[in-house]
Amino acid sequence: MIVFDLACPAGHRFEGWFASSEDFSRQQQRALVTCPQCGSADVAKAPMAPAVPRKGNQRAEVPAPAQPMASGVMPPEAAAMLGKLAQLQAEVLRDSRWVGKDFAQQSREMHYGEREADVIHGQATLEQARDLLEEGVPVLPLPFPVAPPDELN
Ligand SMILES: [Zn+2]
Repeated sequence: MIVFDLACPAGHRFEGWFASSEDFSRQQQRALVTCPQCGSADVAKAPMAPAVPRKGNQRAEVPAPAQPMASGVMPPEAAAMLGKLAQLQAEVLRDSRWVGKDFAQQSREMHYGEREADVIHGQATLEQARDLLEEGVPVLPLPFPVAPPDELN
């Protein structure tokens, strides 16, 4: 199963679950996908698909393009939540292999069985991430920037 963030022309956003990217295209063409708020069948994929990383053999490929940042006075609970998220990301990435700019290629190879499944993270442009998602490769954006390991040494 794959989840897509969908949007209608009125700007309503909602999630839809599909067997595959092709399944979504098929249903979209037959106007079977409709907005739950206004009923419009003119829906399209919103840019990013959220996915919940799971422990075990579930892969968690993660593109890391330049990240948007926030600054300013933040309520303590928001800051605490961001801190928690950052900690979760660190835990998810602990067993993950940094592949840098090879991310898109290696994700694709794993998806098509040309490479042993592994948990990897690296860098991808938004365009690469979009292409991967359209091919049904389960990638997800990281909430926080990741410094390449060779830059830390
Ligand atoms: Zn709508």
